[in-house]
Amino acid sequence: MAEKAASVAIVGGGIGGLTLALALRERGIGAEVYERSAELREIGAAVALSANGSRVLAGLGLRDDLAACSAVPTELVYRHWRSGQRVAAHPVGAAYEERFGGPYFGVHRADLQRILADACGKVHLGRRVTGLAADGGKYRLEFADGTTETADVVVGADGVHSTVRAWVDDAPLARYSGASGFRGLVPVEQLPSLPDPGAIQFWMGPGGHVLHYAIGDGSVVNFLAVLDEPDTWESESWTEDISRDQIDAAFEGWHPAVREMVAATTLLQRWALFGQYPLNRWHRGGVVLLGDAAHAMLPHHGQGANQTIEDAVTLAECLARDSRETALKRYEKLRRPRTRAVQRSSWVANDLLHLPDGLAADARDLALGQIDETLGWIHSHVC
Ligand SMILES: Cc1cc2nc3c(=O)[nH]c(=O)nc-3n(C[C@H](O)[C@H](O)[C@H](O)COP(=O)(O)OP(=O)(O)OC[C@H]3O[C@@H](n4cnc5c(N)ncnc54)[C@H](O)[C@@H]3O)c2cc1C
Repeated sequence: MAEKAASVAIVGGGIGGLTLALALRERGIGAEVYERSAELREIGAAVALSANGSRVLAGLGLRDDLAACSAVPTELVYRHWRSGQRVAAHPVGAAYEERFGGPYFGVHRADLQRILADACGKVHLGRRVTGLAADGGKYRLEFADGTTETADVVVGADGVHSTVRAWVDDAPLARYSGASGFRGLVPVEQLPSLPDPGAIQFWMGPGGHVLHYAIGDGSVVNFLAVLDEPDTWESESWTEDISRDQIDAAFEGWHPAVREMVAATTLLQRWALFGQYPLNRWHRGGVVLLGDAAHAMLPHHGQGANQTIEDAVTLAECLARDSRETALKRYEKLRRPRTRAVQRSSWVANDLLHLPDGLAADARDLALGQIDETLGWIHSHVC
């Protein structure tokens, strides 16, 4: 019988790489994490952990640490862009946890990274992977500093611009969605017009939407404000600098709470929203992809990190159970359809959230009243 993988090298110390290292070590498999940055830095501002992700992290013993620095939304509310009228609402808090088996946490990304890194122990910082080669039955990683390491399995948890991905698949990298976003962290006291600041809320309007939720002790709101513009994105960078006048003008006519929120941001940038084409395969030999490297998705279901966490625990379980080859095949079989469905649904969500007032928007609002049909299949998933 083929042997189980004895050593795993994880490229990338983001949410996926760190969660995988923890899950592997818990199962008695040696894992080393190689991160290019000299220190673990947060990407973006905050993250919403839904039950499908928080349940996994709780299983790794992190629930209390996470709860100590997370806000639990009171409700999930959908609102009309101009009037602010509630078009659908669902309780979150205890009712959500009872329904989906895990809490909903709004957490600052720096806190999540710190909790994962502390639990992981050693992460090799300042180790940028530049090359990869087969070496007998193993794989040799080459680093920018001229050093090398070998392992039975190499995991590309190196994010949307993955270096490891080129070894596995030659799919085109990313596709501009036609939408871009503004983001920010705003103290609640600067949002006098905001109803229900403790809720996770979508404001839906013609050609755009705003999503926000409180993080930490609930005194700060994290928001993402999306518009269907520009039509094309030519720049190589995924961000462009904008002026305060541009951001103020972008949501003219929207409810005062939305205008206060975007006006208060200190991040004067526009982020292009890209989705990734599905890959033809997720592994080649003993090299395998995880998280954004495999399935970067639009943020409209708040699932990029949550799907990455699901990947990590599934891969760890497969490697603990089977030989390397069987484990990687099984992992891909379990994870590809699920992540592709969430990817596709996040893409469709862009159009649904941006409908102009009218019959189609009325039908959407009715459907949003049924959380089991809209989000239940994502949040209730057990790995
Ligand atoms: C602003 C923002 C808000 C978001 N909000 C949510 C949310 O609410 N809920 C949610 O589920 N998802 C959210 N997402 C998506 C989520 O952040 C990503 O899906 C998730 O971080 C992917 O994790 P990852 O580990 O695959 O990649 P990353 O977190 O990108 O980590 C990749 C790591 O690999 C390292 N690396 C890259 N190349 C190399 C190399 N060659 N050698 C060594 N190391 C390397 C990088 O430095 C990085 O640390 C959000 C994303 C953004 C940008």
